[in-house]
Amino acid sequence: MRYCSRTHVGKMRRKNEDTVYADGRLFAVADGMGGHHGGEVASARAVKIVADSVRAAPDGSNTGRLLSGAIISANEDVFAKARSGSGPAGMGTTLTAGVLTGDTLTIGHVGDSRAYLFRDGTLTQLTRDHSLVGELLRSGQLTPEQAFDHPNRNVLTQALGTTEEVSADVTTHKLVAGDKVLLCSDGLTTMVRDGEIAGILSGAGDAGELCARLVDAANVAGGADNISVVLLDLAEPDAFEVHESSSFDPPQARPKGRARAALLAVLATGLVVGLAVGIGYYMASNTYYLGFSGDRVAIFRGLPGSFGGLSYSQPIEVTSTTRAQLTPNSQRRVGENLVVGDLDMVTAAIGDLELAAPPPTVIPSLPATTTRPPL
Ligand code: MN
Repeated sequence: MRYCSRTHVGKMRRKNEDTVYADGRLFAVADGMGGHHGGEVASARAVKIVADSVRAAPDGSNTGRLLSGAIISANEDVFAKARSGSGPAGMGTTLTAGVLTGDTLTIGHVGDSRAYLFRDGTLTQLTRDHSLVGELLRSGQLTPEQAFDHPNRNVLTQALGTTEEVSADVTTHKLVAGDKVLLCSDGLTTMVRDGEIAGILSGAGDAGELCARLVDAANVAGGADNISVVLLDLAEPDAFEVHESSSFDPPQARPKGRARAALLAVLATGLVVGLAVGIGYYMASNTYYLGFSGDRVAIFRGLPGSFGGLSYSQPIEVTSTTRAQLTPNSQRRVGENLVVGDLDMVTAAIGDLELAAPPPTVIPSLPATTTRPPL
């Protein structure tokens, strides 16, 4: 496993308010905002608090819960400092943090920095932008191309340290050898399109060289904002210690004649299908998520969505909480199956769902937004 982290002020800003971190277990990008050094203070505080929490956690801790708790602590810290006058007022930060445990990556995320998975030549965004443009994109009101250079793309619907409470997305992802994971601030993604990022990640070079090329690409495109990238490269054959023992011996005898070859092909196909179903079942049986069963919040066992036409999930517990009782943000978290993890983590997350106060009797106001200062 190789990794790198790199941050650059860009070509338009006078100072860099981003913070990056990578130590082989924790990987993080935070993009701070707020005048009078507020941005640097907020992003550095958030990353430090999360790094301290991860370092202090005993072995075998529930990583999803650990990250959720660390993000809540970081939010309280930055919010209290901004409000008490012991830190710059109005400061806040995004935070996208990944913890690698064996071959499992757990991501905690608030804001519009991003995590991507690059696997088999395809770049997939693992996080959802907590931004107005992100919401419009998800609801189909904008195309990705319209979103890319939308004038209001700096309006965040959620940031760390700007409100008393924050609702982080926590997701888990199984990685395989050959994967690359990229965390980055919007200084990369507002300058460089996903296709170009994928092109860079598919190129030759070690993690450090790829990080440098990503930053260069953003600067060549204008470098309008601070640019931060953290790259985790699992290209090595020994990407995960846990996978080292799973090697097959090559067949001893060569197949003779067509019949034998055909028989082997049938056997091999059966083995591959069996393995795929087995792996899918294994992942599904150890994964839980929140969703709606009818109109009620429920815990599902399995993986959200369907894979190869097969759905691997079923509700195992239906709560008494209805969709209408949740705030819009919590409705989204449940409706879009954003809470995914093991049973402990998902059960704990039910308690974190925000219930709307008595049914609204007035037209609800727009969700609070945080606007970054224009360039
Ligand atoms: Mn930024």
